[in-house]
Amino acid sequence: IMILTRKMIEIRSILSQIDQADTLRLPSIVVVGSQSSGKSSVLEAIVGHEFLPKGSNMVTRRPIELTLINAPSAAASYGVFPALKSGKITDFYQIQKTLSDLNLAVSELECVSDDPIRLEIYSPTVPDLTLIDLPGYIQLAAADQPESLKSKISALCDKYIQEPNIILAISPADVDLANSTALRASRRVDPRGERTIGVVTKMDLVDPQTGVDILLNNRYPLRMGYVGLVCKPPASGLFRRHGDLISLTEKQEHEFFGRHPLYAETNCKTGLPYLRNQLMRTLEDTMARSLAPTATAIRGELEEASYQFKVEYNDRILTPETYLAESLDEFKIGFQKFSSAFGRQDIRDMLKSALDQKVLDILAEKYWSINSKASVSSGSNTAKAVLLDSLPSASQDDPFWNKRFDLSSSSLTKLGIGRLATMLTISSLMAAVEYQIDHSTFAKHPFARSTITDSAARILNDRYFSAADQVENCIKPFKYEIDLDEREWQSSRDRAYGLLKTEMSQCHQAYQSLRKQVGAKTLDNVMDYISKTNNSSERFDDVGGFGFSQALLAKGREGIFLKDRLAVLQMRLQAVKSKQCRSKKNKMYCPEIFLDAVADKLVHTAVLFLNVELLSDFYYNFPRELDQRLGRQLSIEQVEAFAREDPRIQAHLDLQNRKHLLELALEKMESVLALQRQRRNDI
Ligand code: GDP
Repeated sequence: IMILTRKMIEIRSILSQIDQADTLRLPSIVVVGSQSSGKSSVLEAIVGHEFLPKGSNMVTRRPIELTLINAPSAAASYGVFPALKSGKITDFYQIQKTLSDLNLAVSELECVSDDPIRLEIYSPTVPDLTLIDLPGYIQLAAADQPESLKSKISALCDKYIQEPNIILAISPADVDLANSTALRASRRVDPRGERTIGVVTKMDLVDPQTGVDILLNNRYPLRMGYVGLVCKPPASGLFRRHGDLISLTEKQEHEFFGRHPLYAETNCKTGLPYLRNQLMRTLEDTMARSLAPTATAIRGELEEASYQFKVEYNDRILTPETYLAESLDEFKIGFQKFSSAFGRQDIRDMLKSALDQKVLDILAEKYWSINSKASVSSGSNTAKAVLLDSLPSASQDDPFWNKRFDLSSSSLTKLGIGRLATMLTISSLMAAVEYQIDHSTFAKHPFARSTITDSAARILNDRYFSAADQVENCIKPFKYEIDLDEREWQSSRDRAYGLLKTEMSQCHQAYQSLRKQVGAKTLDNVMDYISKTNNSSERFDDVGGFGFSQALLAKGREGIFLKDRLAVLQMRLQAVKSKQCRSKKNKMYCPEIFLDAVADKLVHTAVLFLNVELLSDFYYNFPRELDQRLGRQLSIEQVEAFAREDPRIQAHLDLQNRKHLLELALEKMESVLALQRQRRNDI
């Protein structure tokens, strides 16, 4: 017979995992009683262990959904909190503590919560049962309890004692049943007493005649009658810890009713074994009755879920694992595409344009502002121009110009190209990785994003110093000598020309926009003023001479700088084009060309190394690192959490899961129904 209940309890727990399915509930037994009626003692006697939180101030704030599972082969009893993924807890004191913590998690303000705590207890001595323990009714709220507590508890109980649940109404024998809160509540929802079991506790506190009168209660008849119990736990705490609570209390109870034969003579129902049996029978009957209607409800829900699954997801089964694997593959393919497109040439271009900037800076510092006494803002472009003008006519071994030349060249070779080149390559790879993430499924997954960028950064950072050092080593010879052939000279000449031209047009643009911003005439005036005051070495006062504001003076200085620069660029452009610069023999006269050639050699050498040491190495290791960190190293929970970061995937998984649970419940249900039909036929 118990096979049925066991199966139905299984179905019940499957159904309880389905969200928003209030219609899909199999009935259970709800336990109500006022505080101190002996409710906890009864439940603990049924379970055979002390496990409920105690203490005068300890009010149960949440329903406890207790599933008892008879496990004949279990060596010892144990409990499981499925929602906490607690695993087996064999120490019932620990269970008590957990329940207490879960209870206290409900805030004082909220008082009670209707979110049940699920607890499963496996034991060779318990029957298959599900019981819901509700907060005890209170008569008067204690001083530190809110007034609303009383009504909140009774509202919560009212919610649970509705059909088709069985009500286990607990009342103590030493209080007039007319005053029993539990019975009064039950009569409101079950006036004919069809689904209430009356439990009268503390039978030892009344004399047998009074006891018999209570149990044969004719004023409030219940179809399933009243059961009298004595389950005062043994007084000594010592016993409870080590001894077997159930046999101790049951023995005491048995002795008690044995001492008072009146109970048996009057056919009163007494004792825990009787109650346990009755609970099992009643639960099985009630469940059996609600089986068919619940099955119908499940079928309806399943139909709806299946339809939705087809329409929205085309019946595509998705698991977090496949979702992650597919996303990772897609990302790796994207990255592979990038890596076959991004190579040597791209690094070269990037590095070259960085060095072009350095070359311009060096030229500006070493040549274009060689008259160090005349500051940029001086406006004395004549001084500079005069000096630079003298370059073409200087002799080949002019020490001044030779020194400039060597200094410029070594500024470039000693600039730390190793670090610069490595850094640039790393940042463009990191940018590429970010770009790939943004254009992949992982864009919506913060966890995956940080794992991927972290993997990339780790690989690249690990190689940073050695790559930078190697590059630096390889370019060392250039610090001493730079060998150029005519062909190289020619192409550098073309590039230098181009570079100067670009710089000139940028300079020109900047000058034009400054004129537009300040006004052509005003700018001319202020520039003129600055040049004059400077040449006559008059200091302009800080308030701003001639009524020009400080801001305007700054603009004027900027204008002069740009104009000077334009003049110099123009002059150098001419020089590069000139006959003199056509041959490398005259390199001293053409630093623009020479520095470009040096930059080109540096870049060439650096790229050769970076391509192997950094790029190829990264392209090889990065996908493997991802396989590790987004594959093998993740737990099932992490994969699940990852997939659920995307609300669309979460919805997909939820619906799929719901459909699966409904199918599972229905399948089990059909087999129980078949069993039931067969049994009917047998009879
Ligand atoms: P709850 O507040 O309804 O859970 O009640 P408890 O189970 O905590 O019991 C309240 C008090 O009644 C405790 O002190 C128990 O020891 C005592 N008690 C419980 N059952 C019996 C019983 O059958 N006989 C006697 N004499 N006392 C009992």
